[in-house]
Amino acid sequence: MRVSSKRSAKTPPPAPPELGPLVDAHTHLDACGGTDAASVHAIMDRAAAVGVQAAVTVADDLASARWVTEAADADERVYAAVALHPTRAGTLTDAARSEVESLAAHPRVVAIGETGLDLYWPGRLEGCADPQTQREAFAWHIDLAKRTGKPLMIHNRDADAAVLDVLRAEGAPETVIFHCFSSGPEMAHTCVDAGWILSLSGTVSFKNARDLREAVAVIPQEQLLVETDAPFLTPHPYRGSPNEPYCLPYTVRALAELLRTPAADLAQVTNRNARRVYGLG
Ligand SMILES: [Zn+2]
Repeated sequence: MRVSSKRSAKTPPPAPPELGPLVDAHTHLDACGGTDAASVHAIMDRAAAVGVQAAVTVADDLASARWVTEAADADERVYAAVALHPTRAGTLTDAARSEVESLAAHPRVVAIGETGLDLYWPGRLEGCADPQTQREAFAWHIDLAKRTGKPLMIHNRDADAAVLDVLRAEGAPETVIFHCFSSGPEMAHTCVDAGWILSLSGTVSFKNARDLREAVAVIPQEQLLVETDAPFLTPHPYRGSPNEPYCLPYTVRALAELLRTPAADLAQVTNRNARRVYGLG
């Protein structure tokens, strides 16, 4: 499909054809324009219209951690994940720890995340936590995942070796999800062998992501999740347009093409995986 040159980058992508029930394993409904119950319902109605029946909305700071639990209470299709993003690890004060901890106990919080390491932004983004601070916050979130028995949701940017290092040093919790997995085949092998779950986003549809496309072939279908990471990473050919959970079928279709498997089958297996991994009804 070609995007008309008249398309503005601000125009939302059209609704994709439905592929069956799906769960958006990682999204940011607040950054998609969700503010109150009505706007969350509207986003989830657009998603449901193309089969995306549920979404896990992920916090990246404390205000967002409060908001995601409220969104999950407001709409039964929404689940939440709480943590302070690695780039914000410097804000993980004692008070923040105790608040994240009490939010993590919320019954609709289904994962601790996103946490991990981001070695891209330090030095580029003002106020970004340095690697050592990120490492300490990551270790704390790993421990929280173990104490709550909830999956650990990892953000890894340019930090393959360091993330593995911390996971080995601290001991990985029972369930580990690499959100927006974007590493190469070697890292995919390591994660798959450890029994970890790899969640794929619209980046699998980007033609220049060759390493990732090779990595995808390594992942057993039972260890796959699909996510939008909306409003970011809108799949091809709508790159640059605002992403939303309803766009998830585009990514499933791109992934199915890579794996030479029917898209409806892939939808079914990833839907089952998400419900198992997050313990959804
Ligand atoms: Zn995210």
